[in-house]
Amino acid sequence: TVTKTTNIHQIDGTEEQIKAINGLSQEFDVTTERLRTITDQFVKEMRRGLDHDGATVAMIPSYVSGRPTGDEVGRYLALDLGGTNLRVCEFDLKGKGDCSVKQQKFVISDELKTGDMRDLCDYIADSVDTFLTEHCSKPGPNEEMLQLGYTFSFPVLQTAINRGVLKQWTKGFSSTNAVGKDVALLLQESFKKRYLPVNVAAIVNDTVGTLMAYAYCYPETAMGVILGTGTNASYYEKTANIKKWSEQENPAGTDEMVVNMEWGAFDCERQVLPLTMYDNKVNRQSRNLHQQLFEKMISGMYLGEIVRHAMINLIDQYLLFNGESSPILNKQWGFETAYLTAIEKDKTENLDETKEILEETIGIPSTTLADRQMVKKMGEFVGRRAARLSACGMGGVMMQDDKIGQECIIAIDGSLFEFYPNFEGLLREALGELFGEEAANKVRFALARDGSGLGAAIIAMMAHKQQQQQQQ
Ligand code: BGC
Ligand code: MG
Repeated sequence: TVTKTTNIHQIDGTEEQIKAINGLSQEFDVTTERLRTITDQFVKEMRRGLDHDGATVAMIPSYVSGRPTGDEVGRYLALDLGGTNLRVCEFDLKGKGDCSVKQQKFVISDELKTGDMRDLCDYIADSVDTFLTEHCSKPGPNEEMLQLGYTFSFPVLQTAINRGVLKQWTKGFSSTNAVGKDVALLLQESFKKRYLPVNVAAIVNDTVGTLMAYAYCYPETAMGVILGTGTNASYYEKTANIKKWSEQENPAGTDEMVVNMEWGAFDCERQVLPLTMYDNKVNRQSRNLHQQLFEKMISGMYLGEIVRHAMINLIDQYLLFNGESSPILNKQWGFETAYLTAIEKDKTENLDETKEILEETIGIPSTTLADRQMVKKMGEFVGRRAARLSACGMGGVMMQDDKIGQECIIAIDGSLFEFYPNFEGLLREALGELFGEEAANKVRFALARDGSGLGAAIIAMMAHKQQQQQQQ
């Protein structure tokens, strides 16, 4: 007897196509049980990171300890490096959580991302110079220097608020002469060469900036999360729990400190993550083999690439696009996550927008409705998996921070959270499976768009104040 495959996903395709989609649905599934395993492992790896250096999840003290009061005032510069663009901003903090901003974006070419770090720093300094010339006024020789918060969104092992060495590159950056060097000093040198009166007052991870920016209005914000090109989180930890810290390292004796988790490196030992053959391909072809595996399953840089590998695999079995690929689809990074988001949003009956992306933008000769439905499904599976995995990270922090069942604000920035349809709903659903619906409903996911710039400005202000007090 022939049993027909259940068409759970309602694909208007052949038996084989339906089977293939059912298979992918399983491969990309993260069961409730697996959510629990991953979350438990998360807490373990967090504790290891707090205990000693060299753990998978680095748990880096950020040297940001206070909470903003909302009364911070003054003009501060901020830089944002690490996503798609370089942003230069000037914030005028007006207190009561109010501020105005001027900003300019600069493109970072692939050449700059992979060349010498000095060239990258020179380019950043030139961009700051351009920005100041076009939008602000430069201080004269006898005036005070401008204070700048440098959002540098890579793992930096900090030794002070304005000191820290780059541990490794992520997200496709690989500039030479940078790993192991102090990134604030390198930038400061480039400013000096140009006689730019700008002082790097703080190095700030984007998650820390996002947390501070949201806390500027809502001081009870517990966590800052990035779900964009890359992924990571930070939160307030009790200094007593940061076991790897000796007393000398906490001279101010503060009782809490923002920790930059660097959660993208979670489970690099490959114990619990449900890696598929497509993830393994993405990993193998990346600039950072076996690093940032969690990030590679979650963030915007990689989701399109995962789906591209899944599509090629089906094409090669004549289960998609009648066995025809295209030069764009055959190339690494040829299928952007932004296309997935657009396809996920396509509500037309015949998936006309999906057709346009696949045929016009990607160059597939022709597609059937079944083809388009299958691509849409793959995007849905991968997006859902990303949300469920990031919920494990948030859940881990909530467990460590005793936040289960409490009101909890999580400030989030990044294209995936902002644009992927219903990402928030998927996050909440997964947290519900972990901790119960009631606890999940107490969590507020707040979009903190471009928050890291404002956060960096606030941190620069705090650092500058501290410095002035020490000098008195
Ligand atoms: C970096 C983090 C950063 C995150 C989000 C990761 O690749 O390692 O430092 O916070 O991307 O931008
Ligand atoms: Mg960003």
